[in-house]
Amino acid sequence: MTTANVSVGDKVSEGDVIVTLDVSDTAAPTEIPKAGQAQATPVETTPAAGSAIATGKGDADMHTQTLVLGSGPGGYTAAFRAADLGQQVIMIERHARIGGVCLNVGCIPSKALLHTAQIINEAADMGDHGVSFAAPKINIRKIESWKNSIVDKLTGGLKALSKQRKVEIIQGEASFTGTHTMQVDTGEGIKTISFDNCIVAAGSRVTKIPVFPHDDPRMMDSTDALDIEDIPKKLLVIGGGIIGAGIVGPNAGELIAETVLALEMGTDAEDIGMTIHPH
Ligand SMILES: Cc1cc2nc3c(=O)[nH]c(=O)nc-3n(C[C@H](O)[C@H](O)[C@H](O)COP(=O)(O)OP(=O)(O)OC[C@H]3O[C@@H](n4cnc5c(N)ncnc54)[C@H](O)[C@@H]3O)c2cc1C
Repeated sequence: MTTANVSVGDKVSEGDVIVTLDVSDTAAPTEIPKAGQAQATPVETTPAAGSAIATGKGDADMHTQTLVLGSGPGGYTAAFRAADLGQQVIMIERHARIGGVCLNVGCIPSKALLHTAQIINEAADMGDHGVSFAAPKINIRKIESWKNSIVDKLTGGLKALSKQRKVEIIQGEASFTGTHTMQVDTGEGIKTISFDNCIVAAGSRVTKIPVFPHDDPRMMDSTDALDIEDIPKKLLVIGGGIIGAGIVGPNAGELIAETVLALEMGTDAEDIGMTIHPH
């Protein structure tokens, strides 16, 4: 039951009671305000800082309004948006570093390497302009630690943004135990969490092609290729999508391997042969 203590045209000062709310346990769940409303109309039930675990529900260890599974670009943007709209949010990630594939083993590290390779290419191209450089000496360990420092910086920044928004991060392997419950194996025990709403942003994983010898150290997926031990003389890339093309591309190819071939799926052997092209 709500009573308005003011009428249109009344003047109010700080501290005046303008509305009386009768809040009972059976009140309807808090609605997410529409975009743009969040700042102007704070949601009454938003908990104090750090108290996302305060309510407790049933037998669960914790309760939250919005649970986000996965901390990649899908997960963290959803978590931030929900928090900005006044929801208590818990985000679960199995890895120690948040950011998902994109920040840790995808877009960011691959673009860092592509940038390095691009500079090598551009320096070589300057020969045509009358400026020649000696052949570059590549220290793959140093390149990797530079690349890792970029990833650290960005994932650290993301963690700070989560903290700012009071999005609670729990590290562990999550699985659903009910329509409103999830359990998280944190490595130090199982945590149970109940939630009003859940956003699943669990991403994708590398496909293991059945007939391939995956235990052969020469077989790499994109994550392995970003953490390569030695630069191979020759490399066959299977899959000519954005990830494969990134490795074969005119820039990355220079850094990763001396010879790269791209193999893209075709309907017959001739098609496949057509798509194999030396770099
Ligand atoms: C080499 C490479 C280069 C790429 N380059 C680009 C690019 O230039 N531009 C671009 O737009 N895209 C690029 N991508 C694709 C991009 O990385 C993905 O599209 C993006 O990461 C997908 O985001 P997501 O949040 O859906 O999932 P993900 O980033 O995969 O995040 C999902 C997260 O959920 C976690 N998770 C899943 N299940 C559980 C569970 N049960 N318990 C706990 N945690 C769990 C995972 O650990 C993961 O961290 C690239 C990918 C690769 C591999």
